[in-house]
Amino acid sequence: AKKDGRNTMRFFDPGMASDVSHRLALEEEIRTSLGTSGFSMHYQPQVDVQGRITGAEALLRWNSPKRGAIGPSVFIPIAEASGLIVPLGRWALHTACAQLACWKSQPGLRDLTVSVNVSIRQFRERSFVQDVVDTVSDTGVSPSKLKLELTETVLIDDVDDTIEKMRQLKELGVNFSLDDFGTGYSSLSYLKRLPINQLKIDRSFVRDILTNPNDASIARSIVALSQALGLGIIAEGVETEEQRNFLAEIGCSFYQGYLFGRPMEAASFERSVRAQDD
Ligand code: C2E
Ligand code: CA
Ligand code: CA
Ligand code: CA
Repeated sequence: AKKDGRNTMRFFDPGMASDVSHRLALEEEIRTSLGTSGFSMHYQPQVDVQGRITGAEALLRWNSPKRGAIGPSVFIPIAEASGLIVPLGRWALHTACAQLACWKSQPGLRDLTVSVNVSIRQFRERSFVQDVVDTVSDTGVSPSKLKLELTETVLIDDVDDTIEKMRQLKELGVNFSLDDFGTGYSSLSYLKRLPINQLKIDRSFVRDILTNPNDASIARSIVALSQALGLGIIAEGVETEEQRNFLAEIGCSFYQGYLFGRPMEAASFERSVRAQDD
């Protein structure tokens, strides 16, 4: 069998075989967890220049029955490759919207927004717009309080489909944030053609913003671009007071990062919001 050629050899590579079976095992566990309560959503504060919480980014968490907590950087790629991201993303959107509706109904809690990540595979589904429409009407959230986080890949990969879907959702009142901005390949002309509301400066530019002049220049350019196009701006991965101050100086006045709060359970998030009003 070893003489059959490269493909066969590769197939019998023990390292690779275990890699594949590991992925398959995880895929199977994701499938199972979807039907049970293995997944949950955490909420990370997004704050304005005064540090006041304006909303949250909803982030998936997975507690695998066999392996314990597994991070999104491990399971999201597997869910994307297998197509399981479609039902998983639908569940995440529904859960985040239901949570937002719950907060909205709480007496004394301020009006909040929620940002939900949408993977390209989910966005390309023929039923995506209808899924969002159904979720909004099932949960009763006001669409203007919902932000969908898309990446630059979504913009450039099937422009016609993207324009059509974004227009329909815009019509409904939903907002769009362009995630990880600056790390992809967006053509600047799409920023003008598509109904985007906000650019999100990627964490990789924020991390060394005080010490790396290139990162500082990129962050400055992204802010300038957002201002020129009349878009909102938010920086992710803000961990220190110095980073926040630098960002404020260059004109970015919305932030997300450990400095203001880690992703947390809904109840903790709600307590953080209430604590600001005490
Ligand atoms: P992302 O959309 O860029 O989300 C921000 C990530 O940065 C989160 O990682 C968050 O916990 C982390 N983060 C936030 N503030 C800080 C900070 O100050 N310092 C550092 N070091 N990290 C910070 P997380 O939760 O592990 O998620 C990783 C990625 O998984 C997300 O990156 C997103 O691409 C994906 N993801 C998470 N939830 C979903 C989901 O519901 N749907 C989809 N399609 N993707 C999701
Ligand atoms: Ca995001
Ligand atoms: Ca991001
Ligand atoms: Ca990022």
